[in-house]
Formats: sequence, structure tokens, C-alpha cells
Amino acid sequence: MAVTIYYEQDCNPDIIKGKKIAIIGYGSQGHAHALNLRDSGCDVRVGLREGSASRAAAEEAGLRVCDMATAAEEADLIMILVPDELQPAVYEKFIAPHLKPGDTLAFAHGFNVHYGYITPPEDVDVIMCAPKGPGHIVRRQYTQGFGVPDLVCVAQDASGTAWDTALSYAWGVGGARSGIIKCTFAQETEEDLFGEQAVLCGGLVELVKAGFETLVEAGYPPELAYFECYHEMKMIVDLMYERGIHFMNYSISNTAEYGEYYAGPKVINDESRQAMRDILARIQDGTFAREFVEDCNNGHAWLLKQREAINTHEIEKTGERIRSMFSWDK
Ligand code: NAD
Ligand code: MG
Ligand code: MG
Repeated sequence: MAVTIYYEQDCNPDIIKGKKIAIIGYGSQGHAHALNLRDSGCDVRVGLREGSASRAAAEEAGLRVCDMATAAEEADLIMILVPDELQPAVYEKFIAPHLKPGDTLAFAHGFNVHYGYITPPEDVDVIMCAPKGPGHIVRRQYTQGFGVPDLVCVAQDASGTAWDTALSYAWGVGGARSGIIKCTFAQETEEDLFGEQAVLCGGLVELVKAGFETLVEAGYPPELAYFECYHEMKMIVDLMYERGIHFMNYSISNTAEYGEYYAGPKVINDESRQAMRDILARIQDGTFAREFVEDCNNGHAWLLKQREAINTHEIEKTGERIRSMFSWDK
């Protein structure tokens, strides 16, 4: 299944520059979208709840801050960047009452639209611009002249021009510099959840932790295990990211490369692959979404317990000790 990738020459900056934009929330993605769009020459206001801890930071960065309802009322494009689990309530209370026909409602992840927790009225465009990277990297790369790739999607094209708006928005946050990939809300939601669960966050942290624990359990010093299974991870990933797996393999020793082919499939084996398929199935049939929302409604009880467990794990204490000794960290 081929996808279309768009670059700067495919986007019309005037569309997004001609809109009044409201960025709702000023967290990881919120600050990056607001600042990148502002620096791209767009008219941005940030909508925050009363007493928001982010207010000072947004104002210090030179952005105009107002309450969420005012921001939504003023704007003709509203990007919702509060945590996914809070979006339905924020939407109902502060955004829906201010949507006018022809407005654009925008998301950076398809969760709420795809699983039906938010159903926008038929006379607004519903788009997505989802940067494929953490918000702080979206901002950092933009200021360095680079850009994190974006997925853009349209769930509802009331105006007939929703795709042009979505591409123009992605241009504004810097995505056109590296590539804007067109897909659907379903594809973005499912692949994003799968990636963060099986590979990027879930898979990675568990892999690093298991390697660390295996060495420590066998009597190796935790510092050694940390440097080997944790610290070096970034160097290997940087080589893959910059030049490909073949170049990473070229850079490591033949001993390491032989070991890669020898041991990799034993760790990520048929059982792990079946686990990945099961994870994907639970995302596709909505089971994961239901369980996540249930835990949110239960005060994040399960999530907080897991967070506590990793925060107090020996690997984190070892890492803190080691990183505090790096000369550049002093
Ligand atoms: P976040 O947790 O970093 O930020 C949330 C912000 O929302 C807060 O800073 C605050 O300004 C506001 N907020 C918090 N509680 C609120 C409340 N009760 N009422 C109103 N506002 C409140 O969120 P995030 O990680 O930037 O996620 C925002 C969206 O971007 C989500 O849809 C997420 O899936 C998507 N996304 C995030 C990333 C990422 O790098 N974190 C990457 C791609 C997509
Ligand atoms: Mg993601
Ligand atoms: Mg995600």
C-alpha cells in the first residue's frame, strides 16, 4: 500500500497564515505547535484553563494566552492539544459551543475521533496533524532548521478544502521540511498506539530493563549493565537513524554483527511476534482504548502504580548516578 508524501512545494502557506488559530493546551505538543506556527508567521492564541501552570511559560515566549472558550470563539482553526483522556470534556464544555460552520477542528492524534469519544458537527472540517516525534523535538528541530515528519488526515471535509488546510498547517509546524504523509484517522490512531506500545516505549523500555536485569542478576555491576544496555542504545539508534541499519552494522565489529543475527531472533521470537499481533488486535477492536479510559476514570490507578515501579527501579537510580557524573551535565 503506497502512501503519498508531501514536501514544502506541495503546501500553500497562505492558507494557514490567513486563519486565526487557537492552540488548546501548552504541554509537550502544545508549546511546539504554538511556537512553530507563530515563527512561521501565523496568528496564534493559546487557550488555557484557569490557573494553568503553563500560562507563565506561554506568555514569556511572547504568545497571547486566553481562556479556552475565548480562544475557541475567536479562532477559525482550533487544535486540541490537551491529554487525550481530557479532550472529550474540554471539547464539550469549551469548544463545541463556539464552533461555527466552516471552522476547522484539529487533532494531533486520532484517538477521540476514531473511537467515537468526540463527534464534531457535520459543518466543520476535522483534520489531524500528528508529528511523528515528541513535542520537545518538534520544537527543537524547527529552531534548528529541520522538521519532524507529520501525518496528516481528514476525517470530515465539510468545506471541500480540508486537505489543503491540513497540509498548510503541517507546513506551519515544520513537517514539510522532512515530509508530510497523508493517511486516515484509523491508520494514524492504530499505528501510533501500536508503535508506542510494542516498539518505541513499551518494547524499548522493557528490552533495556530486561537486558540490565539479566546482567545484574548474573553478578555484573549495575554501572556496567547500564552503560551496555542503556547508554549505548542511543549511539546505535543514532547510526540507524542517520545512515541505515547497514551503516550501523558497518560501524560495529563483525563480532557484534554476527551476534546481532545470532541472538536477535532468539529475543524477538515467534512468541514476541504473536504478542505484537495480539497488541495490534486489541488496538483495532477498541479493547485497549476502553481499558485506558477506564483507568483514567479510576484516577489512573494502574498507570500510577506502573510509573512508581519504574521510577524506583535500580536502573533509574543507576542512570541518575551515572548521568550526574557526565562532564557536560555539571
Ligand atoms: P501534555 O500532557 O504534554 O500537555 C497537556 C496540556 O494540556 C498541559 O500542559 C496543559 O496546558 C493542558 N491541560 C492539562 N490538564 C488540563 C485540564 N484539566 N484542562 C485543560 N487543559 C489541561 O499533552 P501532549 O502529550 O502534548 O498530548 C497532546 C496531544 O498530542 C494528544 O492528543 C497526544 O496524543 C498528541 N501527541 C502527543 C505527542 C507527544 O510528544 N507528547 C506526540 C504526538 C501526538
Ligand atoms: Mg507516536
Ligand atoms: Mg501517541
